[in-house]
Amino acid sequence: MKSANSLMAGLGTTVFEVMSTLAREHQSVNLGQGFPDDKGPVEVRRAAADYLMEGHNQYPPMMGIPELRQAVAEHAKRFQGLDIDWQREVLITSGATEALGDCLFGLIEPGDEVVLIEPLYDSYLPIVRRAGGIPKLVRLEPPTWRLPREELAAAFSDRTKLILFNTPMNPCSKVFDREELQFIADLCLKHRAYAVCDEVYEHVIFDDRRHLSIMTLPGMRDRTARIGSAGKSFSVTGWKVGYVTASPDLLKTIAKTHQFMTFTTPPNLQWGTAAGLRLDDRYFSTLASDMQRKRDRLAHALADIGFDVLPAHGTYFVTTDFRPLGFNGTDEDFCRHITVEAGVTAVPVSAFYDDPGKAPRHFARFCFCKHDQTLDAAINRLGNHFRK
Ligand code: PMP
Ligand code: GLN
Repeated sequence: MKSANSLMAGLGTTVFEVMSTLAREHQSVNLGQGFPDDKGPVEVRRAAADYLMEGHNQYPPMMGIPELRQAVAEHAKRFQGLDIDWQREVLITSGATEALGDCLFGLIEPGDEVVLIEPLYDSYLPIVRRAGGIPKLVRLEPPTWRLPREELAAAFSDRTKLILFNTPMNPCSKVFDREELQFIADLCLKHRAYAVCDEVYEHVIFDDRRHLSIMTLPGMRDRTARIGSAGKSFSVTGWKVGYVTASPDLLKTIAKTHQFMTFTTPPNLQWGTAAGLRLDDRYFSTLASDMQRKRDRLAHALADIGFDVLPAHGTYFVTTDFRPLGFNGTDEDFCRHITVEAGVTAVPVSAFYDDPGKAPRHFARFCFCKHDQTLDAAINRLGNHFRK
């Protein structure tokens, strides 16, 4: 037999699947993979259920149903002040994961350089490489995760096709501020590069911060592909409905990838997402404040148990240093240990690095987008285990 593609064959199984499987095996409280306990807004689920029952179950238009593309454009106007032409600048995809793949396969030419920021979401590097891109990695250092400007500038060159980054940022919960985004934008303009910005946590942002899209900065309107996800904005991660906003020239090619990757996305879920994007401002501010309260509940309790808890400005996650507990193994050992011995699962942060061997090995990521009872059960179990 001839061998399969070596790059894909050489990949391990994603850390989220590995840890969720282990959590199920040990009936642990799963604070690893990021998915909310909450069912999501009833309006969103009702719209999807009604459209399914009324028989809207055939192929929708390739770009997405007009109602959802209009809702994406309206939402961009409402929250970012962007004027988006829904007919030529919005594409609906099967999750942000597909959107990322469509952008990377659509934009990268083999040999192009792609700037990425570590720690990074685990789907980025394999797809960049499979598309023929040459990754140029810049690392943020804990606990501040500030942007290392000189290193970032040095990572850009005339061969840079694009920068791919994520704000609010999974796993380290950093939110890029205006100055940092401006610095990135200036580099994109200087090197005629694109920005692919993964903004799936745009509404999960804390302490009165406001999400700012790099697309709004001068000169970036036509150089940015901005990606969102219904999963994160409406607590329905299983839906896998994503959206890409980009200028017509960029989107044309991104859509060519989409047409042969999935072609479309389930129509009833698109209707549900359109209903969600049209919810009033209060829905979005309550989502953020509820998550912030959960962050505080978990972060304070973990600190009480003895973890060193890093600041979390957005996303579903809090990063913790477990060394003060006296645990001397790696982050993988730790996450396995607490799953098996304490009945709580977290995700090792080294999984978000190109080479886990050269990554920090003392951070575990805990997810707090859970009911209070779930968080409290995890806290009790960890407390009992480490206070023994
Ligand atoms: N980007 C980031 C940073 C994520 O955390 C996730 C996880 N859901 C995704 C993309 C993928 O989103 P989706 O489930 O819509 O594919
Ligand atoms: N985004 C989720 C996380 O970071 C997981 C998504 C997935 O399982 N692919 O936990």
